Amino acid sequence: MSRIAPFAPRPPDALPGCRHVLVTGGGASGVLMAVHLLTRDEAIRVTLIEGRHILGCGIAYSTRDSDHLLNTRVHNMSAFPDAPQHFQHWLEARPEGRGKTPNTFVSRQTYGAYMGDLLTPWQGAGNRLTCLRRQVLRLEETAGGVVAHLDGGARLSGDLAVLATGHAVPGPDPEGLVLGAWATVPPTPVGAPVVIVGSGLSMVDQVLSLVKSGHRGPILTVSRRGQMPRSHARSTPMAVGRCDVPFGAPVSRLLRWARGLAGEAEAQGGTWRDAVDGIRNHAAAIWQAMGLEERARFLRHAVAWWEVHRHRIPAASGDGILDAVARGQLVHRRGAFLRAERAPDGSLRAVIRPHGQGAEVALPAARIIDCRGIRHDPEANASPLIADLLARGAARIDPLRLGVEVTDDCRLVAADGRASDRILAIGPASRAAFWEITAIPDIRAQVAMLAARIAAAA
Ligand SMILES: Cc1cc2nc3c(=O)[nH]c(=O)nc-3n(C[C@H](O)[C@H](O)[C@H](O)COP(=O)(O)OP(=O)(O)OC[C@H]3O[C@@H](n4cnc5c(N)ncnc54)[C@H](O)[C@@H]3O)c2cc1C
Repeated sequence: MSRIAPFAPRPPDALPGCRHVLVTGGGASGVLMAVHLLTRDEAIRVTLIEGRHILGCGIAYSTRDSDHLLNTRVHNMSAFPDAPQHFQHWLEARPEGRGKTPNTFVSRQTYGAYMGDLLTPWQGAGNRLTCLRRQVLRLEETAGGVVAHLDGGARLSGDLAVLATGHAVPGPDPEGLVLGAWATVPPTPVGAPVVIVGSGLSMVDQVLSLVKSGHRGPILTVSRRGQMPRSHARSTPMAVGRCDVPFGAPVSRLLRWARGLAGEAEAQGGTWRDAVDGIRNHAAAIWQAMGLEERARFLRHAVAWWEVHRHRIPAASGDGILDAVARGQLVHRRGAFLRAERAPDGSLRAVIRPHGQGAEVALPAARIIDCRGIRHDPEANASPLIADLLARGAARIDPLRLGVEVTDDCRLVAADGRASDRILAIGPASRAAFWEITAIPDIRAQVAMLAARIAAAA
């Protein structure tokens, strides 16, 4: 299989002259892109196009439950890599910031408000930012720029387009039997059983919300690996230099190396977290140095291990989960979720195959909530915009089916392998190229770099 050039800060190809940037998607990535561009160069205008009613929130920060906490501490959530205290200072100026230290985990709702507020100085008449509440249905490259086709029929021209459209997320279950991870769960009889598919971060959110609402019935989670996110504790990231990383090594060796670092951290009085946080800075480069076969092996064998150690939950959330387990309300079961169905009496049940067993088991459930997270087939779950780019050959799905294919300087790759001069992708929409590009510290570094390149071409 083909090898992929190791990630290295090589000079990216120059972008064409650029004054007006169309950013599609007004979640955290789109807002960060807009603000970095506007801050960087006063010659640049930005149109931010978001299909939903709120800006800056996207999937992650739309929750209204104040128990849904960030899994990153305040001191690491600034919008600007070169102003690390920006979020902290914003927080200190607000009532909800009282008593919060840089090491606190605040609610995701609060963070959504911060993201939205970043746009405030740029909005208003005569300013360089325009925000539109529209769906982009088509993006076309023309000889001199890009044209976005919006729902309602309008067209908008720009010099460059940035896709900040996030992960492919499945639409609602057509039969209405399974609820999505980010749907509001309708009131559930307090004693009734709930089945949650998946045992990651979204499962944690759902369990905490159910318990908070007074739910007392059994909650059963089903997941293939039975791995739960680990809790945060004090961590001092190990100093792992580029020359320490075995770039291009097989996954088995990378895992041995990571375990070795964890052992070293523990021998020095720390924990495995110090090793994971030290490695994390190199995660995108490690991914880019892997060949396709190794990437596939990582996704098959190591991803569950990496994710539960890397994407940790605040101790308060972890304690809530452990309490529910201790009182027997929450039970984790290893197995495969097969389907949701109605029993002959009309009641709902989740059909699973427990790990190591051939037989199916039908579990009664008042609600079934699908919390399998963000790894969904990007083609089957493509939004109309992505489906249109794929249908016209302006984009293609990467060989591991993580998302649209993107170069290591964020250009969209067409079906014929040509990298676009005019359409770029950022954040989770660029995951196939970078893998670890979901958390704010990674996204803000990516948009800062891209804003500098776009400004250089303005
Ligand atoms: C539940 C959850 C919790 C997280 N917690 C943390 C955390 O604590 N710390 C951290 O660092 N990271 C966290 N993350 C990760 C990270 O912050 C998110 O991945 C990030 O918010 C990604 O934002 P995004 O804008 O790329 O995507 P999304 O949030 O998916 O937003 C994409 C936006 O684009 C819009 N859109 C899509 N297509 C179109 C179109 N064609 N036209 C117009 N609009 C369109 C959508 O409506 C949506 O609002 C979390 C992620 C999740 C899911």
